[in-house]
Amino acid sequence: MLLRFALHGWHRCVRIPQSKCRPADQNLKSKIVHGVRFLALLVQKYGGTSVGSIDKIKNVAAKVAAAKRAGNDVVVVVSAMSGETNRLIALAQEISPLPDEREKDVLISTGEQVTVALLSLALKEIGQPARSYLGHQVRIETDNAYGKARILSIDSTKIVEAIKAGEVVVVAGFQGVDENDNITTLGRGGSDTSAVALAAFLNAKACEIYTDVEGVFTTDPRICPQAKKLGKISYDEMIELASTGAKVLEIRSVEFAKKYSVPVHVRSTFSDVEGTWLVEEDDSMSDVLVSGVACDKNEAKITLVRVPDEPGLAARIFGPIADAHIVVDMIIQNASEDGTTDMTFTVPKADHQKALAIVEKSLPEVHAKGIRVDTEIAKVSVVGVGMRTHAGVAAIMFQTLAREKVNIQMISTSEIKISVVIDAKQSDQAVRALHQAFIAN
Ligand code: ASP
Ligand code: MG
Repeated sequence: MLLRFALHGWHRCVRIPQSKCRPADQNLKSKIVHGVRFLALLVQKYGGTSVGSIDKIKNVAAKVAAAKRAGNDVVVVVSAMSGETNRLIALAQEISPLPDEREKDVLISTGEQVTVALLSLALKEIGQPARSYLGHQVRIETDNAYGKARILSIDSTKIVEAIKAGEVVVVAGFQGVDENDNITTLGRGGSDTSAVALAAFLNAKACEIYTDVEGVFTTDPRICPQAKKLGKISYDEMIELASTGAKVLEIRSVEFAKKYSVPVHVRSTFSDVEGTWLVEEDDSMSDVLVSGVACDKNEAKITLVRVPDEPGLAARIFGPIADAHIVVDMIIQNASEDGTTDMTFTVPKADHQKALAIVEKSLPEVHAKGIRVDTEIAKVSVVGVGMRTHAGVAAIMFQTLAREKVNIQMISTSEIKISVVIDAKQSDQAVRALHQAFIAN
């Protein structure tokens, strides 16, 4: 039987099985390391804007101490002070436009070293024993993909000891160490993933993500004032929203939460109101057709004009793009009568020059009549588990956009999402109209 976490050696190191996991098994809650069972373990994560100044760090310390006084054991994960990671990246770029990846990770992981120390000091100052740990001290082991490393295992020995001693444990987010002791980072926004991974490994009762918004909204309130805070949302919906432009949580953290059934509570550092719970899908959720409308302006569209409609062509175009680690999102190809077709696809805006250079190089091989690029596009998506069981969402979406005279350039769907690519200039209008049609009516 595959245990939720296979326990290694002297019950010290909990390794994530690489194979697909069963959902959380309640019985395993008592099998946590060293026979210790933390009934009320909370993992709290505070983002950069929550620890952006000494006063804010003192505010976080007060909240953490209150959670501890209320009877919880608390593990806190912090990000770097807001702006710090960007500052460090800019420093490296002053030396080299493409800095060595190993050294860059050594550099950008320092932002979190500052905040774990400051928060621990602030906790001690108000009488709450605390202890800080960096990724390599806990031993959060990752693979060696610098800048986007994946967590492979967490050794919980030190954390468990500190909790038993009554201390709050403050762990640096965003960082780990590979098997050869090189420091790694998890990718921008990676502290969310550190927190959810710790919550999963320690079988915490919940992972609270404290941020500067009150939770997950039905759409961006800056675009649409009618946007409402969601009380709960399913993991799958959150994964779709995170990948279509709602930047509340780093997507890997949501995938982690889903895989290990970690209840995640996204809430504000600056108020006590309930935020949004990320939970397993339940029956009540499918009554709602659309839970959220998202907008992503970070993609660019590339069209290869009139390429021959023949076997192997797509492979010749997309093979070299994949080799360059560029993620292609949507692809559209039309069969046409004269034996040629237009091939249109989207890539992250940040990668579109690179993709263009690759496509231009393969032009003689793919016999395209030309290349068009459009960076002024937006991908607008509606997401909801209700789509699994209700037909007609696409029709309402297209009618709504037609009424607004918004031209649809590309369409893609999944079981619980419909995305369209449109002119970026019309994206706010489209988001408002779709929110009105599906949510605020
Ligand atoms: N400090 C890192 C970043 O800015 C990690 C995080 O904030 O989650 O991306
Ligand atoms: Mg963040």
